[in-house]
Amino acid sequence: MTPTKLGDIRLPPKLLPSDGRFGCGPSKIRSEQMHAVMQKSVTLLGTSHRQEPVRHLVGSVRDGLKELFGLPTDWEIVLGNGGSTVFWDIATFGLIRRKSQHLVFGEFSSKFAVATRAAPHVLNPQVIESNFGDHPHAVATPDIDTYCFTHNETSTGVAMDLRRPIDSGDALVVVDATSAAGGLNWIPSEVDVYYFSPQKCFSSDGGLWVAACSPRAIERIEELRASSRWCPASLDLGIALDNSRANQTMNTPSITTLLLIREQIRWMLINGGLPWCVERTKVSSKILYDWAESRTFTQPFVVDPVKRSPVVGTIDVVGVDVAHINEVLRRHGIVDTESYRKLGKNQLRIAMFPSVEPHDVAQLTRCVDFIVENIKP
Ligand SMILES: *Cc1c(COP(=O)(O)O)cnc(C)c1O
Repeated sequence: MTPTKLGDIRLPPKLLPSDGRFGCGPSKIRSEQMHAVMQKSVTLLGTSHRQEPVRHLVGSVRDGLKELFGLPTDWEIVLGNGGSTVFWDIATFGLIRRKSQHLVFGEFSSKFAVATRAAPHVLNPQVIESNFGDHPHAVATPDIDTYCFTHNETSTGVAMDLRRPIDSGDALVVVDATSAAGGLNWIPSEVDVYYFSPQKCFSSDGGLWVAACSPRAIERIEELRASSRWCPASLDLGIALDNSRANQTMNTPSITTLLLIREQIRWMLINGGLPWCVERTKVSSKILYDWAESRTFTQPFVVDPVKRSPVVGTIDVVGVDVAHINEVLRRHGIVDTESYRKLGKNQLRIAMFPSVEPHDVAQLTRCVDFIVENIKP
């Protein structure tokens, strides 16, 4: 395929999705969210995060998340600046007592394990790995005080059911839910810390971390803050907890990010809450996976249908260079369909977060069909 021939491919307008953003983060932001930001552009943007209006905003994000996740009243929403990557360091200081266990099945889950291994104040973590495209299972182990799971491995498109390991005593279950939160179901009693950044299912911007914490997690935070362990203030979960209880963050947050996430939570709740979001991602992903199974040139990367993520679809492409498909898509405003850069597969990766219209997923598959039919070797 020569570049000129590729450049000749024009997608018929009737096949185009209404919005071409299929990336896994930053991801599609709905225009209604941007309108909400504009509406508050004078009253909230550019005003102090220590004053009532912004604190009210933070409070409504915290309350809205408790409602969305159906959390018991004694759970708390803690938040701060830095995103999930920073939360790995925060957890290494403020949640892991001595030793953690990590289920590693992709890029993101491996990074938390790397962070704890590098920390001098905790023991080397126990790492349980599986092949990419699958996920391992936790093994209850007496010296483990923190089990670290990933609800949805964004790099591979594998989702796992969250279950507290049997016989795990008072150990914490700490879950990276960055791409799952707001799109997948979970049961609070199986989890102690459910943390995420808001640029995925919550269609906001990056740079913030949010952690739903069980009473047991709060106890651990208090235990470790009272210990002699040194912790930089910016990574101190105890300080973050105090600030969150006052509907603040330790240092200045992005108010735009908070407005975007609040608007998304509102939209999710008005439409029927988490069950509605989960149903929507299920519909979108069924369209994608059914399509991939029905074509000769595609197949879902994740073999076990139960483990296939409803929010991040990874589709192997056979016999056609996926870079060519992506090039034509991008030229038509359909973007970020590339596979995770380090996975190195001839693969499409499609985000199907709640903001993505299921019909747009169907349109995307039609576009790919059209491109492949028109790529003649
Ligand atoms: C995106 C992502 C992260 C990283 O989030 P940042 O906000 O960039 O730190 C971590 N874990 C998972 C599962 C993700 O999808």
